[in-house]
Amino acid sequence: MCRPPPKPRDDDATDDTEATHQSKRSRTKSLADQPPTPCELNRRAGNDEARVEKIAGAVSTILEALGEDRTRPGLQQTPKRLAQLLVDCTSGYARRLDEVLNGAVFEETYSEMVVVRDIALYSLCEHHVVPFHGKCHIAYVPNGRVLGLSKLARIAEMYARRLQVQERLTQQIAQAVQDACEPLGVGVVVECSHMCMCMRGVRAAGSSTVTSAVLGSFRSDFRTRQEFFANISMGARTL
Ligand SMILES: [Zn+2]
Repeated sequence: MCRPPPKPRDDDATDDTEATHQSKRSRTKSLADQPPTPCELNRRAGNDEARVEKIAGAVSTILEALGEDRTRPGLQQTPKRLAQLLVDCTSGYARRLDEVLNGAVFEETYSEMVVVRDIALYSLCEHHVVPFHGKCHIAYVPNGRVLGLSKLARIAEMYARRLQVQERLTQQIAQAVQDACEPLGVGVVVECSHMCMCMRGVRAAGSSTVTSAVLGSFRSDFRTRQEFFANISMGARTL
């Protein structure tokens, strides 16, 4: 099992005052920004090749158990291909919020809601290890600092590239935006179609699952929440 080592995380890459740094250090460590686990450090050490080999071996076993001929031409490279795909689709474990932000937090007096709609999301359901995909809408009300707009999509991607459940993914994105620029509030809505629902069991093809997370003023102020939901529903498109 991989447990987070007991060391404090680095602060975000911004040039704040020492007082701000101190207030950040005293902040409760959030769900979204844990320090790297030993597994993450192993991944960062460039040990991908050994991991691909190990996963490929397991995939070969699965193909055999399915009654397949692993030597037929179409399957010969499948174990390695799937192993590389899985390593790529879970590469978000090795990323950290401060790396993703890369200093793109800017002092600004803009104080109205910032909304980025329709961010594409591709993730893997941790219960079946099959894809779920869809889109994400992220909004926040700045409190003196704004994020580079592309960073919102990068944050969503960092958490999507892990084994996930949609509910946790939604919360992690919201908490990361909160940690990144300490806004007055954050709202996140994720809408996804899950292959484990579409391909098996209830075969709910065409269904989508919607989850939301609201923090700060989005939670406490009905009008802020209403503005957010009105904004994202204006541009609503089917998956
Ligand atoms: Zn599933």
